[in-house]
Amino acid sequence: MTTDRATAAYLGLAIGDALGATVEFMTPREIQLQYVVHDKLRGGGWLHLKPGQVTDDTTMALALGESIITAGMVDALSVAQAFDEWMRGKPVDIGNTVRRNLLQFRKTGNPEAPYSDHDAGNGAAMRLLPVALSTLGQPTECVRAASRAQAHVTHNCLLSDAACETLILMVQDALLGADKKHLLHQHARPLIAQFPQFKFRAIRQIQNPSGYIVDTIQAVFQSFFDTDDLRSCLIDVVNRGGDADTTGAIAGMLAGATYGLDDIPNEWLKVLDTKTRQSCERQAKSLIQIARH
Ligand SMILES: [Mg+2]
Repeated sequence: MTTDRATAAYLGLAIGDALGATVEFMTPREIQLQYVVHDKLRGGGWLHLKPGQVTDDTTMALALGESIITAGMVDALSVAQAFDEWMRGKPVDIGNTVRRNLLQFRKTGNPEAPYSDHDAGNGAAMRLLPVALSTLGQPTECVRAASRAQAHVTHNCLLSDAACETLILMVQDALLGADKKHLLHQHARPLIAQFPQFKFRAIRQIQNPSGYIVDTIQAVFQSFFDTDDLRSCLIDVVNRGGDADTTGAIAGMLAGATYGLDDIPNEWLKVLDTKTRQSCERQAKSLIQIARH
């Protein structure tokens, strides 16, 4: 069951990315005018994607996953090398913070980016799923350390760290069968108690979420906690526009882990890029194997 949910989390991430990429940088009004409701893997968008094609959110996760499978663990230097290699492959999209700190790594060889409160983008959070899968069952402090090792390659920032660690622990509990109520009380609420800016209830509906991790988490949590299946969750979050590929990716990961494989709409699964789908399925199994050792 855990492996099925791990696979669902990975496919949810990829599908959310592919679905959201079509409407990235659009406003909810523009989306509504063009599609009424955007609910198909139709490609296009500012990156001119094929239907079912994913962006950096998924390809960075896959690069990270490959590095963990090869090293047998989350190793900062291996992760930095994998991301550097990924950047050399001319990805369809790359975030500014990711690019700047990977260029810095090429110069220094230090896999830890310098600390900066300004590097509070969602770039470390969007790709963290392989860490959640490969450290499942480890003590919380080890999980948090692995999260930071991965995140700090490009984003060394307190708010990003808090969000990443929360997402990983949420995914892990969901893989083991926890329901949304548990995820809310055990993880979302403690995050907000520590960093009130993440509060997502009793505030306005987040529209056009930016790449700022706080905006991203608020939009994702509103959609995830206020819907009851993966399809509704993803449609809700990407139709908010803004950084929709990344909100889609993160929401898809959480919803996949929570609702499992049976809940992924076939109409989306069959359009998702075949190689991407196969890589997600293979890595999910291998990463869970690493966790069991
Ligand atoms: Mg992207």
